[in-house]
Amino acid sequence: MNINTQLIEQSKIDTVDFNNLNFGRVFTDHMLVCDFKDGVWQTPTISPYAPISFEPSARVFHYGQAVFEGMKAFKDDNDDVFLFRPDENFERLNKSAERLAMPPVPENVFMEGLKQLLKIDNDWIKKGLGNSLYLRPFIIATEGAIAASPAEEYKFIVICSPAQSYYAGDVRVIISEKYSRAADGGVGYAKAAGNYAAQFYPTSLAHKEGYQQIIWTDANTHEYLEEAGTMNIFFRVGDKLITAPNNDRILDGITRKSIIQIAKDNNIDVEVRRVSVSEIKEAAKAGELKEIFGSGTAAVINPIKGFKHNDFKFELPVLENSYASSFKEKLLNIQYNKSEDNYGWRVKI
Ligand SMILES: *Cc1c(COP(=O)(O)O)cnc(C)c1O
Repeated sequence: MNINTQLIEQSKIDTVDFNNLNFGRVFTDHMLVCDFKDGVWQTPTISPYAPISFEPSARVFHYGQAVFEGMKAFKDDNDDVFLFRPDENFERLNKSAERLAMPPVPENVFMEGLKQLLKIDNDWIKKGLGNSLYLRPFIIATEGAIAASPAEEYKFIVICSPAQSYYAGDVRVIISEKYSRAADGGVGYAKAAGNYAAQFYPTSLAHKEGYQQIIWTDANTHEYLEEAGTMNIFFRVGDKLITAPNNDRILDGITRKSIIQIAKDNNIDVEVRRVSVSEIKEAAKAGELKEIFGSGTAAVINPIKGFKHNDFKFELPVLENSYASSFKEKLLNIQYNKSEDNYGWRVKI
């Protein structure tokens, strides 16, 4: 595939302190941009990372046609670079796009574009466990027109941000009794930018109470546990692993489905079913609730230390051999090419 490439004159990599990265603040030298107009995706471009100008009437600003993905590139000790299940990100991006009436990105633009970009910005992918290059593919409606209908022009863009391990620190959560992130028939399963905007306010209220995240419950009854902030959620009750099934309110996380697979292959009892708040509270009271953790590309696995639901507060036990740390280690070993990948999840660039 042809990609118009314009390289930067002077890399800014020497100005970056790779030991003190704030997540998502620093970007590599280049970005991939592909325009959709006249009903087709045009030739993609790789060019220096720089501001882009838009009409103030660009539809993304008014009606929120914006979807994104989050993925990571890893470098092993031999300087080989890998992506983790990129085909899943590709399919999900287009599933999200379809829900927001946006055109699907062709597979070769996504895959070849990513590969070329990673080759050019290869020096930004640092070796060592925890280091990665976070990739942010996204599609936005760029056509200038404030009629409330789908745009006819879009940009598919990929930007890259060097990352260290993310989400350090203790996480305590409030189980939501009022706010929801998604409703039946809505856009919860899409990685739509607006889903995040809608979470910020309730999450800021949780911060004021000293909690870092919200566990989202179903919008109808607030009785079923669905997602943890911007991550999928798992519960360990006894030695059983429980997570909510995918539906149109829950994002089909790639980390989630990888954990389910790894757990099953390690003979752990996995139940994919609705999980009620009362069940988890009862398990907590009975001393059966051993772990709660969130899963997602950025943090991989994020253990939850405690939760609150109206007047009920609970602190999770500190475990020696947690599922969270075992799954995280197994996943990282696959991602960093430190173990066999029997699943074919690792894709060499
Ligand atoms: C991205 C995301 C996840 C995690 O998905 P991964 O593919 O594992 O990164 C979970 N929940 C929500 C709401 C998300 O946006």
